[in-house]
Amino acid sequence: MILVTGGAGYIGSHTVVELLNENYDVVILDNFVNSSPSVIDKIELITNKKIKFYEGNVLDRKVLNEIFNDNEVSDVIHFAGLKSVSESLIKPYDYYNNNVTGTLTLVNEMVLNNVNNLIFSSSATVYGKPQEIPLTESCHIGETTNPYGTSKFVAEKMLTDISSANLKFNVTLLRYFNPVGAHPSGMIGESPKGIPNNLVPYLTKVARGQLECLSVFGSDYPTKDGTGIRDFIHVMDLAMGHVAALRNRKPERNLNIYNLGTGKGYTVLELINAFERITGVKVNYRLSDRRDGDIAECWSDPSLARNELGWEASRSLDDMLRDVWNWENTKSNY
Ligand code: NAD
Ligand code: UDP
Repeated sequence: MILVTGGAGYIGSHTVVELLNENYDVVILDNFVNSSPSVIDKIELITNKKIKFYEGNVLDRKVLNEIFNDNEVSDVIHFAGLKSVSESLIKPYDYYNNNVTGTLTLVNEMVLNNVNNLIFSSSATVYGKPQEIPLTESCHIGETTNPYGTSKFVAEKMLTDISSANLKFNVTLLRYFNPVGAHPSGMIGESPKGIPNNLVPYLTKVARGQLECLSVFGSDYPTKDGTGIRDFIHVMDLAMGHVAALRNRKPERNLNIYNLGTGKGYTVLELINAFERITGVKVNYRLSDRRDGDIAECWSDPSLARNELGWEASRSLDDMLRDVWNWENTKSNY
């Protein structure tokens, strides 16, 4: 049985679908702070399987113990956490509490219950301002620029130290690049609350006429068209990366770190152009100042995951944008 914390969230829900498709038994823990119980129904509809879930907080030792007592959990995939960079600047306590103390609480209860395999959702944000591109797992980490990024960096450090002191405890750190896209059914996808911070959710709201104009943050970066470059990865590829990490854990090391990216970078303008081409919808955008804390370019070298996990992203930017638009246009039907 695999415990998926945050399994009703964006990346978690797609990963649960893939786990169920691969015949893993799954139990979800989520407090729905950034998702809704209806996501569980949709996962059940997509997979035609029943899911066991607990509504609760990873900070709550009681619910964790209940889960470990009631279920034969072998592995935990830990998505539960807060993820907004801008909110983290206003509520740093909440970010450190959920993302760092939440992870520590979970690990403590895992060890007490003899559950020794953890996959942790980390982020390319731990690389801070990249010193070289593409980013490999051995690149320098730290010098994060906001409490969200620092909470991921601290959680990584903490898990690294725990894994070196407890050789029975296996940790896999997955550093995601920029997740985009939705399940091709259009039943699950990303639903940020309020005004989105991230590029694609903002863009789709502008395309639907719910927001007026997309600001392109920075047009004077040293890139081919002056706008920032990112490694956008389809959420279904990311989901499959978790299944690969679960299945192909390296027994010779109890700490493994992988970039989950495509290895290709696209500029913000290239993404907007691709969206317009695929959907036939014009996006109202304007070139604006750089956003504080942003870096010019960030993309992965994903070869370690390819070599060790046998995983690589197969979906294109066009696939991501097509699936996002399909989700935007069908989600109200479900
Ligand atoms: P999300 O907000 O959609 O999903 C997180 C889920 O965890 C939500 O369902 C939320 O209700 C739940 N949750 C939050 N705090 C909880 C708590 N204390 N107890 C129980 N449940 C809790 O986010 P996501 O995009 O699916 O991200 C999943 C993980 O991946 C997060 O840890 C995030 O930091 C990390 N990550 C996300 C991105 C991204 O761009 N989406 C990039 C890199 C890393
Ligand atoms: N971006 C933008 N306008 C927006 C949101 C983002 O131009 O409204 C740019 C941002 O400057 C970066 C890229 O899009 O170059 C990806 O930003 P996002 O916030 O989606 O992810 P990040 O890479 O910051 O984690």
